[in-house]
Amino acid sequence: MTKGNINVSVENIFPLIKKFLYSDHEIFLRELISNATDATLKLKHLTNIGEAKVEYGDPKIEVTIDKEGKKLHIIDQGLGMTAEEVEKYINQVAFSGAEEFLDKYKDSAKDSGIIGHFGLGFYSAFMVAEKVEIITKSFKDEPAAHWTCDGSPEFTLEPSDKTERGTEIILHIAEDSTEFLEESKISELLLKYNKFMPVSIKFGTKEINDPDHEPATTKDAEGKETTEPHRKITVDNIINNPNPAWTKQPADLKEEDYTGFYRELYPMQFEEPLFNIHLNVDYPFNLTGILYFPKMSNDMQMQKDKIQLYQNQVFVTDNVEGIVPEFLTMLRGVIDSPDIPLNVSRSYLQADGAVKKISSYITRKVADKLKSLFNSNREDFEAKWNDIKIVIEYGMLSEEKFFEKADAFALYPTVDGKYYTYEELFNKIKASQTDKDGKLVILYASDKEAQHSYIESAKAKDYEVLLLDSPIISHLIQKLESTKENITFARVDGDHINNLIKKDETTISKLDEEQTKSLDELLKEVIPSDKFTVQLEAMDSNESPFTITQPEFMRRMKEMQATGGGGMNMFGNMPEMYNLVVNTNSELVSEILDTKTKKKQERLITQSLDLARLSQGLLKGEELTNFIKRSYEMIK
Ligand code: ADP
Ligand code: MG
Repeated sequence: MTKGNINVSVENIFPLIKKFLYSDHEIFLRELISNATDATLKLKHLTNIGEAKVEYGDPKIEVTIDKEGKKLHIIDQGLGMTAEEVEKYINQVAFSGAEEFLDKYKDSAKDSGIIGHFGLGFYSAFMVAEKVEIITKSFKDEPAAHWTCDGSPEFTLEPSDKTERGTEIILHIAEDSTEFLEESKISELLLKYNKFMPVSIKFGTKEINDPDHEPATTKDAEGKETTEPHRKITVDNIINNPNPAWTKQPADLKEEDYTGFYRELYPMQFEEPLFNIHLNVDYPFNLTGILYFPKMSNDMQMQKDKIQLYQNQVFVTDNVEGIVPEFLTMLRGVIDSPDIPLNVSRSYLQADGAVKKISSYITRKVADKLKSLFNSNREDFEAKWNDIKIVIEYGMLSEEKFFEKADAFALYPTVDGKYYTYEELFNKIKASQTDKDGKLVILYASDKEAQHSYIESAKAKDYEVLLLDSPIISHLIQKLESTKENITFARVDGDHINNLIKKDETTISKLDEEQTKSLDELLKEVIPSDKFTVQLEAMDSNESPFTITQPEFMRRMKEMQATGGGGMNMFGNMPEMYNLVVNTNSELVSEILDTKTKKKQERLITQSLDLARLSQGLLKGEELTNFIKRSYEMIK
């Protein structure tokens, strides 16, 4: 037996390891299973190239719990280690690796991001164990070795009588970590970190119906049938799928394989994904993965943190911020890349050249896929638009490259259910919706029901009205206005349609100057000036006498602020202000002017104002009650 000290420069590193990232103790299991996987795959390679003259067979990794003995075992059938190799890889290399890692990061452990996910390796076992044993037999014809370390820098190394090839790691679980002796806990961790690792992982056994046994059915005297129970057999409980879809070639996968894999990733998700994007590059960096577009709701925050990041099939995190462009974090799926540096902070990650390339590759792939979906089946793409627009619009806002590419597939739906690309829309409306100053006015509504009457007025003039209802649309509109030449967006309820698209023709007012003046004064006496700005307009006599509008600019600024304008709250605190557009050519206005008593005039104005408010859903509470009462009085 050899006794010795692990080469230490720190007096005792184990308490440090234990303290380090206390929230993340569970990663020890992933580290040990990664090592077992590496050892197995290394052996596979050596047998493939003829270096190891042993039968590779169908090796698996086994995890067992010994509750009484308070031990957790991780057993592999990989290449194993000789005593000399234990000395070298465990006592020297791994240890100095762990030491270096701790030294580097002990101060930044607060950066709970990706740090600590990788790098601690074998010694992470001491986060949960008070003593660790390694019993290992190399594939080389040499005696097995038994290493023991109790968490002090001392270790022992002695021969062992283990005969099968491979390594067994025995963790003597510490008093404060007994949760790792619970089957449910280990099962949960295996599913979280190792669900797609490339070597089969066995955790216990399970009973299944014997596939070779067909239960017989017998009839009794009365003709009643009874079927004997299925014969049960016990099989290994393999917790992982060693060949997940993303590791395969796109050409080898059918649509069902992609949806099947989606099920596997999100067993609790019942909705089918809309489509998927298979990522697969090996130059200038390695990256594979499958991204899914789920049906998207308008709540953007809700849908984050669904993409899982793997390194060589080992789960790392489901926070892909910094690696995947922000707008795509709403997607689901898997990204696997050995080239993403993980034991670094987020800010470093975002500045890393390789990561930047990965991020822009993913953006490009997504844009290309959307374009090809649009080109190959436009009808289907239009049908899905409502469920995916939020991602696309968000991408157009946040990634310049994506914005440029999106011209090819971003759609602008109309209230009548037509879908235009920007170019199509432009060509369609440029003759009719260009105002007298040569500016193209793109009309839109955000709510077909609420803005019905305004939409109708626009349609009466043969204008196209878009239906734009995303929460971030005001930002996108702002961006389009600043990139496309000489255009402006106007929501249909922003003003009277004649003012939204100003043409040269004018309608003559029936009122002379004096009448106009007295109408204006009268209205201002009755209409509360803190809520409405009165605006007299000469319109067709059959158009609505009173209409409430809300000017585009203020409304848009408020909306932008509400959906992440950040910083100052300049517009949010402003009271809601509306314009009251009064049609001076309407019969009602003539009647108001012709009415003799002031009291009656006021009543007419109040009632008309309330009707206008009612049509906008702005009449509520006591005012609504009074209005209803008053209206009944009138028809009595
Ligand atoms: P890393 O995996 O990054 O090399 P670790 O600290 O996890 O660092 O492991 C250190 C070394 O110990 C490994 O590189 C390997 O040589 C050896 N090792 C660890 N676990 C096993 C195992 N189960 N079978 C064979 N060798 C192992
Ligand atoms: Mg390792």
